[in-house]
Amino acid sequence: KAKLSEVLIEWKGLGYNRRAKFLHEMAHAVVHTHKGNFPKTEEELRKLSGVGEYTARAVLTFAYGKDIGVVDTNIRRIFSRVMFGKEAGQVDISTKEFFAVIDQSVPRGKGDPWNQALMDFGALVCTAKAPKCDVCPLQTVCIANLSEQKHGFRNYADSLATKNKKINIKKSGAKKIPFKQADRYFRGKVIDILRDGHQHMEKLYQQVERDHKLRDKKRWGNIIESLMIDGLIAIRGSTVSLA
Ligand code: SF4
Repeated sequence: KAKLSEVLIEWKGLGYNRRAKFLHEMAHAVVHTHKGNFPKTEEELRKLSGVGEYTARAVLTFAYGKDIGVVDTNIRRIFSRVMFGKEAGQVDISTKEFFAVIDQSVPRGKGDPWNQALMDFGALVCTAKAPKCDVCPLQTVCIANLSEQKHGFRNYADSLATKNKKINIKKSGAKKIPFKQADRYFRGKVIDILRDGHQHMEKLYQQVERDHKLRDKKRWGNIIESLMIDGLIAIRGSTVSLA
């Protein structure tokens, strides 16, 4: 029953405002399209706002106990290394084929603990930058580890450390945009101001310019446009408000 603007006000401090919008639309769809029952198939779940393949699969396994693979960053990395001997993103098969491999690995009746264990394994052992191959229970079957040992490295972790060192030297000259200068930061500030009530467009810009140092009208226009496209704000005449 709540309006999106009411949801956005309550969402303060909870991160990405688009998620509040997705949640609002999702609640609406569950009540009106699914008669109050949360969908239980991947196809139906993916029709809900903000739900992609990862979320749909996570709901199916963690909420409904389905034997289906969840593909988050950690799990993708583990399978890429163990099964294909590569980093995620370098594996040369389609997403569909990759998912099929992951689905086949799920032990029957254990989808939930299996996926949780893999997430922990990726966060604690087979980590992105410094995998603990020395203590890894998969070190004798992991293709990445075995192939780097053939190339003279003690293990995959040592080979990765050598590669990362070279990449870091190249990257050290690259410029990183501080968060307080990113569009995402200014978008959040606009929503924050509008939580206290609607604003005249020019006054809104002046406030963001004064308090948050956004001094680029063209960029301001793009930020406002992106918030409108995302359905988070509404503009009537020269007045801006939460949608
Ligand atoms: S041996 Fe190393 S790269 Fe392979 S799964 Fe274990 S931690 Fe990951």
